[in-house]
Amino acid sequence: MRSSALVLIALILLPIAIAPLSVSAISSPHLMVIEWSVEKSYGRVTLYQIPTEDDSMSNSDYKLLPFRWYTTANYWINPSNKYGFSESDVVAAITVSAGTWDKETNFEVFSYQGTTKRSAGSYDGYNVISWGYYRAGVIAVTYIWYIGNSIIETDTRLNTYYKWSLNGEARKMDVQNIMTHEFGHWCGLDDLYDDKDYWLTMYGYASYGETYKRTLGFGDILGLKAVYGE
Ligand SMILES: [Zn+2]
Repeated sequence: MRSSALVLIALILLPIAIAPLSVSAISSPHLMVIEWSVEKSYGRVTLYQIPTEDDSMSNSDYKLLPFRWYTTANYWINPSNKYGFSESDVVAAITVSAGTWDKETNFEVFSYQGTTKRSAGSYDGYNVISWGYYRAGVIAVTYIWYIGNSIIETDTRLNTYYKWSLNGEARKMDVQNIMTHEFGHWCGLDDLYDDKDYWLTMYGYASYGETYKRTLGFGDILGLKAVYGE
């Protein structure tokens, strides 16, 4: 493993309570913002503990968020980008990411509704994936609006501060790799930070050019089924 070139992405859980004007006090949703922050590191102290061989199909680790969808998450994609990606290629990469989870359970977790001009990050009744500006240091941010343990809206913004790729190019973030991980949050899964969980999709760090999170591990699938059943 080329650990010397590993770029780590940390995820920060930042619960923020909001009270949208259009929603009554009793049903005001809370917002959880899940950021992937870039942390350039060329030698984590514990790096040597990461399994050198892919053990994702025998690793049963997973962690659940304190809330989940109880209905199918209908979602829209805003394919507008500055990377020269066609609309159909963007839609393909993102719908494949969602389908990677959906095919592992009989529950219809995701349902793609079409393209939109809406932006991710506003509580508007639409679950949207879009590119958009976010502060430097954060690769992607997932917004989860919830009441009690029930998610009512989820958006994911891919930060235009960074370069993106559809095929795992070096020094760029792979759309399918990052979106498969982010959709894991939509599924109610939390990040894993132990080095031994490196090969799982829900491992809380990622690197440029990485594509292995496109494929779910045993623990990722167990977590999904803990939420949605077989
Ligand atoms: Zn994450």
